[in-house]
Amino acid sequence: MSDNIDEEKKALILIVDDTPTNIQVLAESLRADYRVRVAGSGKAAFEIIAKVGAPDLILLDVMMPDMDGYEVCRRLKLAPETKNVPVIFVTAKADTVDEEYGLNLGAVDYIAKPFHLPIVAARVRNHINLKIKTDLLESQVMLDGLTNIPNRRRFDETLEIEWKRALRDGMPLSLIMLDIDYFKRYNDHYGHGVGDNCLKKVAASLAGSIDRPSDFVARYGGEEFVAILPDTDATGARVIAERFCSHVESMKIAHGFSDVSNFVTVSVGLASVIPTIDMTPTDLLSRADERLYQAKESGRNRVC
Ligand code: GH3
Ligand code: MG
Ligand code: MG
Repeated sequence: MSDNIDEEKKALILIVDDTPTNIQVLAESLRADYRVRVAGSGKAAFEIIAKVGAPDLILLDVMMPDMDGYEVCRRLKLAPETKNVPVIFVTAKADTVDEEYGLNLGAVDYIAKPFHLPIVAARVRNHINLKIKTDLLESQVMLDGLTNIPNRRRFDETLEIEWKRALRDGMPLSLIMLDIDYFKRYNDHYGHGVGDNCLKKVAASLAGSIDRPSDFVARYGGEEFVAILPDTDATGARVIAERFCSHVESMKIAHGFSDVSNFVTVSVGLASVIPTIDMTPTDLLSRADERLYQAKESGRNRVC
């Protein structure tokens, strides 16, 4: 069991080469440290990626029938899901002009055939280590430091993606904006440290209140949170919004200075649309924000 988990943690390397002996030699030497997939053509490489997802590194032959390595690299760099995958050309076409051409396509390295296995292994290891660090940094940049849920930057990106998807599919998209009630008083009376703890608890409660993999919760800023609910109409979104409210209140975080409850509560604004070409995500956001304002105005601790 633990062996399996270790196995899954290993970086995934895709080797693309039309010469079976090359593949065998490379794959054998890398298998001890990495998960290895092999493809005999560019087409097969894209089929594997579609099936198992983007690898952590690609070793790519240049001269292959049908689609050559340069073309494979070009396509990889165009697709959002593969554009950050490091590509190393491993090729007999190794004069300086070829090398320059390959590197300019976005490859990170260029190895000449016949290759010396320990050098290939060392270069692969270096690039994999860099990739792991870059991935870690990228994921950190998208997380809110206090609550550990996605941050505003990630929210903006996700809203853009979900908006386009909903527009394309003609599906409804719902947005929830939520703000803690009388949080300034909470901070003023209990102190910032306790305030921070409260934000963490609310964030965890919200993140635990969604159940579809496509649903998304983020910290928008300060004591405001947002949720994106793809393929969800107003009726469905209302269920989630009510759940946010009741789950937060049911944590019974004492708030002796709120006018609406003895506990920490939230006000929630919700908006739903089937996006059309003349609307923008910002329209949806401002509608949810207006509803949140209404929820505050009409007494707080409620959904509008
Ligand atoms: P309302 O019910 O109308 O929302 O009133 P409110 O007091 O919650 O709203 P207001 O926007 O006036 O105050 C928000 C407060 O949230 C201000 C600040 O003290 C607190 N706050 C914002 N960010 C943080 C944070 O990261 N940590 C802590 N502890 N407090 C924060
Ligand atoms: Mg606020
Ligand atoms: Mg508030």
